Amino acid sequence: MAEQLPKRETLAAIDYQPPRKTWRDPSVDFRKGTFCHSAAPKNLEYLGLANPRKWQPTDQDWKLPPDWQRIILDGMRERLKKFRSFRLFMDICVRCGACADKCHFYVGSGDPKNMPVLRAELMRSIYRRYFTTAGRLFPTLAGARDLTEDVLKEWFYYFYQCTECRRCSVFCPYGIDTAEVTMMARELLTLVGCNINWVLEPAANCYRTGNHLGIQPHGFKDSIDFAVDELAEMTGIRVDAPINKKGAEVLFVMPSADYFGTPHYYTLLGYLMLFHEIGLDYTLSAFASEGGNFGLFTSHELMKRLNAKVYEEAKRLGVKWIIGGECGHMWRVLHQYMGTMNGPADFLEVPVSPVTGTRFDHARSTKMVHICEFTADLLQHDKLRLDPSRNDHWNVTFHDSCNPSRAMGLLEEPRFILKRVCGQFHEMPENTIREQTFCCGSGSGLGTDENLEMRLRGGFPRANAVKHVHERFGVNLLACICAIDKATLPTLLEYWVPGVEVAGVHELVGNALVMKGERERTADLRGQPFRSKAESHA
Ligand code: SF4
Ligand code: SF4
Repeated sequence: MAEQLPKRETLAAIDYQPPRKTWRDPSVDFRKGTFCHSAAPKNLEYLGLANPRKWQPTDQDWKLPPDWQRIILDGMRERLKKFRSFRLFMDICVRCGACADKCHFYVGSGDPKNMPVLRAELMRSIYRRYFTTAGRLFPTLAGARDLTEDVLKEWFYYFYQCTECRRCSVFCPYGIDTAEVTMMARELLTLVGCNINWVLEPAANCYRTGNHLGIQPHGFKDSIDFAVDELAEMTGIRVDAPINKKGAEVLFVMPSADYFGTPHYYTLLGYLMLFHEIGLDYTLSAFASEGGNFGLFTSHELMKRLNAKVYEEAKRLGVKWIIGGECGHMWRVLHQYMGTMNGPADFLEVPVSPVTGTRFDHARSTKMVHICEFTADLLQHDKLRLDPSRNDHWNVTFHDSCNPSRAMGLLEEPRFILKRVCGQFHEMPENTIREQTFCCGSGSGLGTDENLEMRLRGGFPRANAVKHVHERFGVNLLACICAIDKATLPTLLEYWVPGVEVAGVHELVGNALVMKGERERTADLRGQPFRSKAESHA
């Protein structure tokens, strides 16, 4: 990684001097390291999306359809009618600037078009020109611009430099959510075939095999069997991990990275141990083998299509309710859209914990509970035997992943769990956690390699807060509950804060969980030796 990238000092010396050209100038420098590659035509074809062809953002000719302007403007008109929020966000910004310095991409790049207000203005200027009288009559005065090919290229560049994290919306006095403007821009770009591969390849895989990685059912089963074997070696206990079991009480859906990526895999081990220990009657599904949904980063229509498998599978297997694993954007989709988009799930029951009897009334619409809500309830009722000293080699802080924190308010449960299963826990500064959390810089499908410089810039504020607790308290582990975070934060921290690793919350639960009949354990789920009691008290 390091040889392709500027030194840390160079990247940290951010130039906040605005460029000499006016904001109205749409020309973009597609500089290596700052943008994502185009989607391969096979992925568009597979998903039935418009204008599949070979092209790259650095090409002069993007091979747009001949009537691309009409397509975009018709698409915009349709969405202005359909989404009241979109029209509001186009109309009500007073350009107060409260959001200007709240975006991690602006903080890390110094590029004014990464200020949320100006990012949205790239779209508003087109809205004004074609959908308002003032913009039609006095375009310059009204801040309107013509929809040119350069504007489209500028949209592609900057709306794929927004992770749809919604941090800016927390600070806007009018509640304008620039993430939703980005979602609209990406929908419009999709209409003319301007997508990035890192979003569409997982989406196409998901459509084909049920998961982002394109793993087929036998591969899914192999991965789960491997985890069961490993746990048997570690604990002496062979857990049951049923797949496609009809009539189970609960369907468990997780991001595919949990059974194929590292450090995600250790989170999977934690889930399996927990479910075995409490005797949960559950099943995994080889069809709903992905909780993540890259449709969210493409269009509402694709999001709905990909998410449908969760309810379809719950119906086919005849379960009563659903638990979802540690995934960020999966929960944005489930919490904000699933009930109306794929529901109502009248064939399911309001979730009730079979162990504690707690009825999760807040999930009465979706019938789906987050694993952290489920585990926190078990801990609240003292249903688990724990030895937190098994995590004494970790000094932990918690990264609120944008979607579970800002989109669903899951702020307390992960902290409650961490404080029970770990002896050492320190919060990052207040203005960088909870609702104000800083994004990893790689969400919404931007976690690829070709834009690594921009990811490191966007992740700079997050890494800075980690650096603070690393230096002040000796923190050496960043816990989180998002598959994208687990995939991208290790690279970010290796660059900005070497010496801090990344883990899922349920990995730490698995370390601390004392299972009935387990053999003496001397190492954590990564195979790292536990600290001895003497070391822990030194
Ligand atoms: S804070 Fe809200 S109203 Fe103010 S500039 Fe930003 S988006 Fe516009
Ligand atoms: S949603 Fe996040 S990435 Fe997008 S403009 Fe707002 S703060 Fe920046």
